Amino acid sequence: MKNSLCAHNTLRLQASCDAIDTFDSLDKLRQCLLWSEQFARDALILGYGSNVVLPVFYPGMVLFNRISGVEVVSETDDHVHVAVGAGENWHNFVEHCIKNDWFGLENLALIPGSVGAAPVQNIGAYGVDVSKFLIQCDVYCRSTHNCYQMSSAECRFGYRDSVFKHHSKGQLVILRVHFLLHKMPQSQVTYPSLSRYLDSNQISHSPRSIFDAVVSIRNKRLPSVDNIGNVGSFFVNPVVSQARFDVLQSQFSCRFDHYVLADGQVKLFAGQLLRLLGWQAARCGAFSLFEQNALVMTHDGEGNQNDCLRFAALLQESVASVFGIELAIEPEVVAS
Ligand SMILES: Cc1cc2nc3c(=O)[nH]c(=O)nc-3n(C[C@H](O)[C@H](O)[C@H](O)COP(=O)(O)OP(=O)(O)OC[C@H]3O[C@@H](n4cnc5c(N)ncnc54)[C@H](O)[C@@H]3O)c2cc1C
Repeated sequence: MKNSLCAHNTLRLQASCDAIDTFDSLDKLRQCLLWSEQFARDALILGYGSNVVLPVFYPGMVLFNRISGVEVVSETDDHVHVAVGAGENWHNFVEHCIKNDWFGLENLALIPGSVGAAPVQNIGAYGVDVSKFLIQCDVYCRSTHNCYQMSSAECRFGYRDSVFKHHSKGQLVILRVHFLLHKMPQSQVTYPSLSRYLDSNQISHSPRSIFDAVVSIRNKRLPSVDNIGNVGSFFVNPVVSQARFDVLQSQFSCRFDHYVLADGQVKLFAGQLLRLLGWQAARCGAFSLFEQNALVMTHDGEGNQNDCLRFAALLQESVASVFGIELAIEPEVVAS
């Protein structure tokens, strides 16, 4: 297939587009964007394609960000300010931090994708969101052709959410991301599955141990993107008010796994809701729910976006009709 994107999205969907290119500098990005104007749709900017559901055909260019570099901007006795090229591999960067004794990001080990995509959905895992350590994004605005800096507040981070998913969607290309990391370990081990793992294996709470533990837990709970098509969690874990949670808990005899967020709201686990309804390991054509983790949709064949979304709609309807909870799709569903 001409300009196939199959190898460029971790869900391995059958997909293609008018043209593909990569950029490793602002100049190259500008050239690519100029070239892309001949096509029907604006160029789609991707990192590693690990959080997208691509259409069968995208009538435009797909540009992969490969801007590299990790630079120490400044440091004090307590903190280090690091600026990172948006095309750097996220996990490699986290490992680099551990090796340099820059602490904070260890809970986010092994999340696939690029540094530049991390702010887009405010990636998070095991009780930590990237927004906790992110101080600035350097961006290029496609409509004004200007570069500028956005503070963490301007990124308007929320749970798996940021300004980049809303009114700035597609308009801003993240070129570099700035982090303020600790030089003294500040372990965050309150997340139930992480603390259980550390306690039961009598593992210390050092950043290196947490990094290793997270890698080990993730390797058991998630399929490798090298072997099985997937985008990690297919649905966002729903967040409800404490009052709504209490009603839900009183309506059903089962115990809902949950996690109380800093703002008092309660995060439920979409995987558990699907499991309770018997969807674990269910299959629909080339798509199934991963046996070890019902939140992960896997793809093992010739499926495309339409097939994938049909299965997703079935699951969403099922959860809504029983629990009255709307499951939102986590990866970006790119329109054709
Ligand atoms: C096995 C697996 C496990 C995962 N686990 C987690 C997890 O624990 N927590 C979590 O939060 N996520 C998780 N994810 C989702 C994914 O890893 C993250 O969302 C990651 O940040 C996506 O990076 P990417 O470079 O592949 O983004 P892409 O899929 O290439 O792009 C995602 C979105 O970001 C936009 N984008 C990408 N780069 C830029 C840029 N430079 N500027 C502006 N917009 C950009 C794209 O247009 C698109 O809308 C997981 C995915 C997989 C496959």
